[in-house]
Amino acid sequence: MLIRQGFPCAARLKAQRQALVRRWVGCRRFEFNEALAFGRSEMAAGRKRPGYALLCKRLPELRKAHPWLAQPPAQALQQALKDLCAAWDRKFTSKFGAPRFKKKGQGDTIGLPQDCVYDAAGGAVRLPKLGDVRLRHSRPALGKLKNVTLRFEGKRLIVSLQTERQINVPAPAGAGEVGLDFGALTTITPSAGVPIQLPARIGRYERRMKRLQQSVCRKNKGSGNRSRAKARVTKCHRRIAAIRRDFLHQQTTKLVWSNALIGIEDLRVKNMTACAAGTMQAPGKNVRQKAGLNRAILRNGWSMARSMLEYKVAWRGSVRVAVPPAYTSQQCSCCGHIGAENRKTQASFECVKCGQTENADRNAARNILLRAKETLAGRCQPSTAGYAGTHACEGAQRKLQHPRPRSAVQGSAVGLPLAGTITELCLSANLHP
Ligand SMILES: [Zn+2]
Repeated sequence: MLIRQGFPCAARLKAQRQALVRRWVGCRRFEFNEALAFGRSEMAAGRKRPGYALLCKRLPELRKAHPWLAQPPAQALQQALKDLCAAWDRKFTSKFGAPRFKKKGQGDTIGLPQDCVYDAAGGAVRLPKLGDVRLRHSRPALGKLKNVTLRFEGKRLIVSLQTERQINVPAPAGAGEVGLDFGALTTITPSAGVPIQLPARIGRYERRMKRLQQSVCRKNKGSGNRSRAKARVTKCHRRIAAIRRDFLHQQTTKLVWSNALIGIEDLRVKNMTACAAGTMQAPGKNVRQKAGLNRAILRNGWSMARSMLEYKVAWRGSVRVAVPPAYTSQQCSCCGHIGAENRKTQASFECVKCGQTENADRNAARNILLRAKETLAGRCQPSTAGYAGTHACEGAQRKLQHPRPRSAVQGSAVGLPLAGTITELCLSANLHP
């Protein structure tokens, strides 16, 4: 399988050269905004949206009007135009909609599609018009260098090397199968094994951030003091994000290495964490509570974990199945009975039909695993976008006909007998290339 992978490293640049890259980033932003404004005016006048070729044609003229545009490599500006055209093309399919004007500090980035040379042994990369840049190189980038992106994270310049290489997708390393329930309090509850919780030090940084944000409010607007205080908040945010990312990488890697089948819920995180404020005419209810819930959901990085699982699973030869989330928390994983009365409290599950008691998240994770196995065996359709409601895999009736044994370790081993092992099913299902 031909894969592309990004290897981000911090650059070790002197302040002067870093300032040069800042100017480049500014040029790119100007170019992007200018082309966007031109495109909008063309469309407003009833003409066709300008394509990449037309936008490129305007570049020399622009450079004559603004000589400083000659500073960054020309290909980087062309790349900005390409990015703009791609964003326009994605207008109706992307969740971000039509491209918008960028302001300073928003996606401060510049892409260099050619003429970059990577020196893995020396931990450096040679970039056009900038020369050799040493990297904080924790591991060599594998494969052939395709392009380089420079971006600012606060004061730090990050050099992201995108490479391409051929990998052999192995047979799944582990024979296990697991269902994962993402939660607001417990980050990930697997259907068997220890629940996965975000590291406690994230909480410490969050408390520190609260203080830092309060301190920003006390500073005068536009003052140097305030901008320094803001920089401290940014740094704290970055720290939290880094801890979470690192943690999720470790956990998802572990899960993928030990399981051939991973079932997850097909959650619409964006809809689930929508703001409840409403409009001036129709204000929403319980807005603060909803905001708190949204924060609790988002801090767990569900979407990040999900996308990590997606590509890691493809590279490791295992299978990830997203199943419809409806009623996973209300259905009994033992007899299949569905009902809100099964949930006496938020944390515990007690089936009113068969009397099974269980941690609520664990019960949901088992349901997810069952649905994933059924999907894989072709008994159910995989979850699709726009799924509205009443899945349960003909659950209640069928599960009553085949009651599953109850035991302490049922999570990993029970379920209806499937034809062949999970590994064989994964390979035959061919859910990924
Ligand atoms: Zn039951």
